[in-house]
Formats: sequence, C-alpha cells, structure tokens
Amino acid sequence: MKTLHVDLAERSYPIYIGECLSHESLILETLSHQEIVIVTNETVAPLYLDVIKRPLVNAGKKVAQVILPDGEKYKTLDTVNKIFDVLLAENFSRHVALVALGGGVIGDMTGFAAAAYQRGVDFVQIPTTLLSQVDSSVGGKTGVNHPLGKNMIGAFKQPLAVLIDPSTLKTLPEKEFSAGFAEVIKHGVIQSAEYFEFLEQNLSTIFNLDLTVLAEVIAGSCEIKRKVIEQDETEQNIRAILNLGHTFGHAIETTMGYGNWLHGQAVAAGVIMAADLSARLGRIDSALVQRIVALTQASGLPVNCPSEMTPDSFLAAMYRDKKVQSGTLRLVLINSLGSAEVTDQFDSALLGETLEHFCQ
Ligand code: NAD
Ligand code: MG
Repeated sequence: MKTLHVDLAERSYPIYIGECLSHESLILETLSHQEIVIVTNETVAPLYLDVIKRPLVNAGKKVAQVILPDGEKYKTLDTVNKIFDVLLAENFSRHVALVALGGGVIGDMTGFAAAAYQRGVDFVQIPTTLLSQVDSSVGGKTGVNHPLGKNMIGAFKQPLAVLIDPSTLKTLPEKEFSAGFAEVIKHGVIQSAEYFEFLEQNLSTIFNLDLTVLAEVIAGSCEIKRKVIEQDETEQNIRAILNLGHTFGHAIETTMGYGNWLHGQAVAAGVIMAADLSARLGRIDSALVQRIVALTQASGLPVNCPSEMTPDSFLAAMYRDKKVQSGTLRLVLINSLGSAEVTDQFDSALLGETLEHFCQ
C-alpha cells in the first residue's frame, strides 16, 4: 500500500493506493462514522458495491446506498437531488459520511452533495476509473453540469480520504482507460520529465494492467497533482497548468458533442496542439513534440483534431471556453519537458498555423 498526504491545513487528507477494496480495516478506519451513504451508479454497483458495503454493515453502522443512472448526461442538479432525497427520507444527520464509488461523474456529484448537505458533511472518494484515480478524486473540485455550461455549478470540497484500488481498472473499458491516460501524459509534460520517461519505458506493462506498475503510475500522477494543489487550492494561479491541452480539448468536446469524443481523447489531441504551438513559439523543439505524439499515439489516443473542424470553427470554439477572461485567450504552454506556464503572450498568427496544421 502506498500512502500520499495532501497537505491543506485542516483540509489535509491521505490518498491510499493499493489493495484498498479487500482491506476491511482500512475501510473501517477511514469510515469511522456511524452513518454512511454510498453513492454509485448502475454499472459500478454490481461490481464493487458489496465489497465496500459488507464490512460497514457488519460493523453495525447505519448504511444506505444511492444507485444513480450512468452517464455524463446525468451529472445534473436533478440527479444530486436524488442523493438528498435518500439522506432526508432516511433521516441521515450531519454526522453522515458520503462515499463516492465510481468514476469522475459520481465523484463530482457526491462531493457536491457532501458540500451542500446540512452545509457540509464528510465524504470519501473511492475512484474506479483511471481518470478519477489520477485526476478528479484529488483536489476538491466538485459539481454538476448546467444546460448552458459544463461543471458550471459546484463547490470546492476536499474529501476526508481517497482510497484507490488499481484492480478496479481490470473491468474498465479500454477506451476509458486510454482517456484517463491522457491526463497521465499531461501530468508528465507539465511537471516531471522523469515521470514522462517512466511512462515511455513502461507503456506496454501499463496497458497490460500490471497492478504494481499501475500503482506507480497512479501514485506518480497523484503526487504531481497534490504538489500543484497544495500551492493553489482554488485555482488562483499555478493550478491552471493542470489545464494543459484543455482549451483546445474543450473546443473539440463542445463541437463534437459530449460523449462522442471522450474528455481524455479531446485532451490528448489538445496537449499535442499546445505542444505544437509551444514549438512554433520557440519554447521547445520539435523533437519533444514528436515524443509526446509518439507516447499519445501508442496509448491509443487521437493526435489530430476531428475532420469535421476547420481552423476557423476551432478558433471560435476556443473563444467560447469558460476560461477565456474578457476576450483574452490564455493558454498553457510548455517551456521544457516537465515545465509549463499559463500565458496570454503568444503570437496569434502562430496559433493560426497550429490550427491550420491540425484541422485539415
Ligand atoms: P465516468 O465517471 O463517466 O466513468 C466512465 C464510465 O466507466 C462510466 O460508464 C462508468 O460507469 C464506468 N465505470 C466506472 N468505473 C468502472 C469500473 N471499474 N469498471 C467498469 N466500468 C466502470 O467518467 P470519468 O472519466 O471517470 O470522469 C469524467 C468526469 O470527471 C467528468 O464529468 C469530468 O467533468 C469530471 N472531472 C472532474 C475533475 C475534478 O477535478 N473534479 C477532473 C477531471 C474530470
Ligand atoms: Mg481534464
């Protein structure tokens, strides 16, 4: 078992990575509460609900479950209300702990419910997708989508603990695994050349789901995200580097319709476009762009923008992104492998060249 600590004063918490699901004493120590509500979905419940629920019930606790429909389209206030319905109908007090068992959609909604129920109750993340294990379960961003914008309603709410069991990835569809891996590659690019090299050298072992090496990958990513978040919990400045590739990626996601391109697939193409622009600006050399392309391609991820998009439609979609502040496009650009920064200082003609190059 690997343990990391996210240091955020009174909101600090541990991240456990290893055989968490079969570790009954860890589950019981983490969830010492008398009242527990496990939130999951129709796909994950048959796979992992019992193994979490059984030790808690056997310990004599009051345990309820909320099984939500599966899908990003259900990440709404209406769905969160179903969690409140159970909490209130079954008289759960403000000493309840919520457990998010599932991917990022479940984690984001459960965290938001925990932030709001009786003005805040404890919650524990048990992420079961690669994306949620390396990204969304750490850092405290929670929330839901609004018809007018993704993740537009939410709260910062740090979990009490994160329990990551890499063996859950054995049941995850391969396309979802690859999508999560896009964020893993991104972490290497923005913060650690050593981590990026580790990924290059261990790629086939990772994709064969070797549990030892997966635990290292997950720990490496959580460590990178932890360090960024400890410096800037609420994204006033440095935390924004975690958005490398995301302004490009969001343009793809919104144009193609959510779900047709998974978030991670759009981010993968976006990271490459950001790298290409960084090279055109003379920040990095093209050999590094090629390395990122090679790792991305070998991970089963797209390296071009969708054929439906033109440079003009792409640029227009980028300007609609929520991170565009008063008409200024700010992008995360790469300085070297393992270093990135947010800037609005770039020649827009070169951005045009990048878009011309990728949208054909
Ligand atoms: P997801 O939660 O939709 O999960 C993907 C699919 O895998 C779903 O169908 C799910 O039911 C299924 N699944 C989950 N675990 C499984 C398992 N072990 N075996 C088989 N199937 C399994 O998607 P995701 O990629 O995990 O998360 C995406 C969401 O995360 C988005 O809503 C995004 O906005 C959010 N997100 C949040 C943050 C944050 O900081 N809070 C960061 C990144 C992404
Ligand atoms: Mg992302």
